[in-house]
Amino acid sequence: MTGIDDLPIRDELRGKSPYGAPQLDVPVRLNTNENPYPLPEPLVARIAERVAEAARGLNRYPDRDAVELRAGLARYLSRTTGYEVTAENVWAANGSNEVLQQLLQAFGGPGRTAIGFDPSYSMHALIARGTGTGWVSGPRTDDFRIDVAAARAAIAEHRPHVVFVCSPNNPTGTAVEADIVLALYEAAQAARPSLVVVDEAYGEFSHRPSLLPLIDGRPGLVVSRTMSKAFGAAGLRLGYLAAAPAVVDAVQLVRLPYHLSAVTQATALAALEHTDTLLGYVEQLKTERDRLVTELRAMGCEVTESDANFVQFGRFDGPGGAHAVWQALLERGVLVRDNGVPGRLRVTAGTPAENDAFLDAMRAVLKEND
Ligand code: PMP
Repeated sequence: MTGIDDLPIRDELRGKSPYGAPQLDVPVRLNTNENPYPLPEPLVARIAERVAEAARGLNRYPDRDAVELRAGLARYLSRTTGYEVTAENVWAANGSNEVLQQLLQAFGGPGRTAIGFDPSYSMHALIARGTGTGWVSGPRTDDFRIDVAAARAAIAEHRPHVVFVCSPNNPTGTAVEADIVLALYEAAQAARPSLVVVDEAYGEFSHRPSLLPLIDGRPGLVVSRTMSKAFGAAGLRLGYLAAAPAVVDAVQLVRLPYHLSAVTQATALAALEHTDTLLGYVEQLKTERDRLVTELRAMGCEVTESDANFVQFGRFDGPGGAHAVWQALLERGVLVRDNGVPGRLRVTAGTPAENDAFLDAMRAVLKEND
């Protein structure tokens, strides 16, 4: 049988496996940082209405520039961050992964380099690879913060064209202070004109304000966001960015025409009409996230401070390491994430009942390993 490696595939893709967390059918799924709450019924009804309206025009291509949606997202950002942006500052695509891909298509690519600070969201490196962009893995401190001095040195050495800062960071939950982002921005611009991408996929869950106001007067700074987490709409595939209008012009050079379907645009607009209800769920999840931190610590776990809708915990340095604990939890019907960070696992904040099930399973596993 012909395998991938028998095909004339690009050398850098040979022997690689596709990204993806296991999608297992278990009672408690806390492994992909989804929002556990289904969309409220009034929103489901509004989506049906808006999509029906869009369906009547599906013989035509959608609004290529998604202007109404971008204006709605801009209003949402302005209202929730207190920093005024307009549709010209905002661009939307199919998930923030596509936003990041478009940024690398426009600002990375062959002969260019991007840097991130690991452990972080592994798709940054994978999208770099997919777009032919070189990748440099920068360091973090032992407590998973960005080591500013080391980061500056790495930027000066590699002179990257794109710098990824994930805040709150996946998988650690660590938020990045504004002055650290500014220090990295200055270091990056000193090395060469470059783009600093602040991935705020989990921004709404943070104890800290959004880093969005930092785009003010900084044309090389981009903030990316998503409806997959706070809006509880991972299945929708809607991500967006906010930046100087010139960045939006730049991604339009690489986006596929009509990339955002009329159905997607209609659904996202309906979701925006229900922002307050959805942000109410975010508040509940933040409380549950804080409860997970407290209870895991009470069990004796080492827990990384979290500003996201998930918690990194450990340390599991015994036989089999973190993976053995992952397996033991799975055997009790609880799926968490093993991101490959030595001795640590990541659990997404679910409903109170799901979190109780996870905490009970953890107590049982720890007792067994005692
Ligand atoms: N950024 C980060 C940090 C993420 O964790 C994720 C999803 N896990 C994404 C971006 C991509 O999300 P989406 O494509 O669903 O918007």
